[in-house]
Amino acid sequence: MPVLRSIRERFERERPLEGVKVAACLHVTAETAGLMRALAAGGADTALCSANPLTTQDEVAAALVDDRVPVQAARGEDVEAYARHVRALAGWGPDVTLDDGADLLVLLHDRGGADDVLGGAEETTTGLLRLRRLEAEGRLACPVIAVNESRTERTFNDRYGTGQSALDGILRATNLMLAGHTLVLLGYGATGKGIAQRARGAGAAVIVCEVDPLRALEARMDGYEVMPALAAAERGDLFVTATGSRSVLRREHLERMKDGAVLANAGHFDVEIDLADLRELAGGRVREVLPLVEQYDIGDRRLNLLASGRVVNLAAGEGHPPAVMDMSFANLALAVEHLALHGAELERRVLDVPKGIDEEIARLKLESLGVAIDTLTPDQREYLDSWGQTFSE
Ligand code: SAH
Repeated sequence: MPVLRSIRERFERERPLEGVKVAACLHVTAETAGLMRALAAGGADTALCSANPLTTQDEVAAALVDDRVPVQAARGEDVEAYARHVRALAGWGPDVTLDDGADLLVLLHDRGGADDVLGGAEETTTGLLRLRRLEAEGRLACPVIAVNESRTERTFNDRYGTGQSALDGILRATNLMLAGHTLVLLGYGATGKGIAQRARGAGAAVIVCEVDPLRALEARMDGYEVMPALAAAERGDLFVTATGSRSVLRREHLERMKDGAVLANAGHFDVEIDLADLRELAGGRVREVLPLVEQYDIGDRRLNLLASGRVVNLAAGEGHPPAVMDMSFANLALAVEHLALHGAELERRVLDVPKGIDEEIARLKLESLGVAIDTLTPDQREYLDSWGQTFSE
């Protein structure tokens, strides 16, 4: 993670986070550990809990505890333990919060304490939806930096990160052959696009289901078959949800699926595949056929659910590779620095990542890849400036 490393080295020299209490509710992975270490190098007091009960890498949590970073997380913790861990972090009275899904900052709003937070940064689409809701209700008590929407995050994390890691999680859990099979993707948003692209690259026939006419059109023009989920239900060998919505695959779809169909979710919450419907259809005839693969016997057919319907790239795999989390966590690290230095002056709104950070991260990433690019000549700059175009330095 060369970009994050260069930030960490600067943090070590400048110590911009001296004494700042940073609480992070993120997936506890090796990449997250890299972020926590960069923040500590900047002088921050850090604490970490998981953003999902099934995504913690226990060995990473243990290594961080050895480094004296308190970690409240264990893989497979139940929902009560999960909630207790988020509460513990909220009760610690953080100055800055980092979230992947907004559980920590929303809790601070609900139980009080958000007024004392200098600011938060949010890493995922679903979290921003929740925080924008608070903002719309006039309840947002601190500034929030929408890291999820920086270009270096959205393009690379959502498209390339999820594209690879969702399929990686599915393949690790099942050893399924993609070529020659049909993958049904539900939700052609930033993350769904990456999954469709990578699945097609691996030889799968891809069907896209959408509710947004523009996205559906885009999927069609990108060359995918587009149809309602009910029609796709009969065709798919593998179903992947990436909608951010609930019950996208429910009884009516499950009843039409082929014997052996595989169901996986790449969205934030475990509500996209209707688990109650699945359980009801199987009436208790459920068995674990492989680790993280539960087979539901629904009469004359069997359906295979991966990772209990939780976010498959982190629950069945290791999440996005470090090469992409490098940029995401560089954004988070710089967002923390910005909040620590300027949080008190910022508006209590959902804000863009400060200008210049995106370009700087992309520049450092290119450098680490050994890729050089052109710069505008003075003449070109003058020409473009005369049209009112602005280019960062
Ligand atoms: N549902 C998400 C996309 C799936 S990935 C969305 O709507 O944006 C879910 C989240 O996990 C993303 O915020 C991503 O940054 C985070 N993530 C992925 N791989 C990770 C890793 N290796 N370590 C920590 N977080 C990771």
